[in-house]
Amino acid sequence: MADTPNDCLLSDALARLIEHADAALPQRFRLPGGHAEPRAPGVIALVPDTPATDAAATIISVGLHGDETAPIELLGRVAARLDAGQWQLAAPALLIIGHADAIRAGRRYLDTNLNRLFRRDGVAADDPRQEAQRARVLMQAVDAFLAEHAAPSGAGLPGATDVPLHLDLHTAIRDSRYPRFAVEPCSDTPTPATVWPVLAGAGLQAALAQHRHSWTFSHYSRYYHGLAGFTLELGRVAPFGANDLDALEPMAALLQARLAGTPPATADTARLAFFRVEQELMRTSDDFTLAFAEDIANFTRFDSGELIAVDGIDGETRVGDVPLHVVFPNAGVERGARAALLARAVPAPGAPPAAT
Ligand SMILES: [Zn+2]
Repeated sequence: MADTPNDCLLSDALARLIEHADAALPQRFRLPGGHAEPRAPGVIALVPDTPATDAAATIISVGLHGDETAPIELLGRVAARLDAGQWQLAAPALLIIGHADAIRAGRRYLDTNLNRLFRRDGVAADDPRQEAQRARVLMQAVDAFLAEHAAPSGAGLPGATDVPLHLDLHTAIRDSRYPRFAVEPCSDTPTPATVWPVLAGAGLQAALAQHRHSWTFSHYSRYYHGLAGFTLELGRVAPFGANDLDALEPMAALLQARLAGTPPATADTARLAFFRVEQELMRTSDDFTLAFAEDIANFTRFDSGELIAVDGIDGETRVGDVPLHVVFPNAGVERGARAALLARAVPAPGAPPAAT
């Protein structure tokens, strides 16, 4: 099919997909260096005319939680710069507006948390929840895209462009000692060593390794496809127009470099603080209280012997021999759900263990 020149800008297309996930877009439209192909509601593939040597595919997803607006604005900024010819497409990519209905409603989700549903046998075809149907669409879109873009060597130099990535962009509900941090899903696929300097160069400050499977979107790409997938927390939730995008400019630069097939900025991995989840704090009874203020910052440290929580059935949870850092605390979850992650500081991957 012939392209229709100038019939749609990428930034406009993304905005229209937020207005309506089923927005009528051209089946294909020109971009500087390539073209765009809408693949599914809220999903656009970017296809370069001439891929740069070794340039690997990138999946960029935003708005899986509808109230997390900074990543949506960040992707819009990157797209507007492409529309303006400030950079040229030279690597394949899949852009995903996760949950347009929730974005328009200004809510994290409508029926249930979308970012827990990315499991192939975990969502019934007749599940009536909106997010269940959305997860199926997104899993199929990722499967189809990655079938076109085979997996990776990942053995290059720091800042190499040959490692496929899935960057699922979020913002957190609370403050954090490290406002920008990566969550590394639990998987048999280790993160290629070349990726950490890239994340440091994009302004990330910490990385949290999950200790068990959690059926998030980035875990989906890693678990089923062996892709280096990350959930990236980029500061704190704010309404449209109230985000500090300048603080995220290094992340915008990373997205642009990936899509332009050019080596991204890198920084010393030592600039990242590494943590590993030690245990999940569960709410077992209705009679459950956290031993600290609800609005405590992520990664707040608790020392040996300090009280973390009291549960009517499980009793007290106290810190053992090693200090723990509390991440994503929420006392208000339903019974049987996770009320916080308790993480310990660990050496950078590949670094010799610290003397204790
Ligand atoms: Zn989120």
